[in-house]
Amino acid sequence: MSNENCLADIKCPKCGALEPFCIEATVVVRVYDDGTEQINSGGIDWNDDSVIVCDACEFMGTVKQFAAAPPTALDAVKMVLAACGWEGYTASDAEICDAIDWQLLRDVAARETTNE
Ligand SMILES: [Zn+2]
Repeated sequence: MSNENCLADIKCPKCGALEPFCIEATVVVRVYDDGTEQINSGGIDWNDDSVIVCDACEFMGTVKQFAAAPPTALDAVKMVLAACGWEGYTASDAEICDAIDWQLLRDVAARETTNE
């Protein structure tokens, strides 16, 4: 699963969370002596260099870093399932995690690290 709206292609590079995030954004407001009023409804802007913090793990970076997040192990398994033609595969993320041999993945990761 991935984000498709305001957070399209954004994901925490540390924990893989898809939302929510705190993003440093700019907004235009009309200012009075006793307060402010937002005048461009929905016009809250940020860019690739804006600071973003993951609510789940508090990892802080730029939006660019979160947009370029590598796939998580779960994403990788889903890509493999799709590549193997498991169309219509409807298991939940939790069911996939239960079915994965995590020790096998750790062994593969350790081997790749050793080879570097
Ligand atoms: Zn996170």
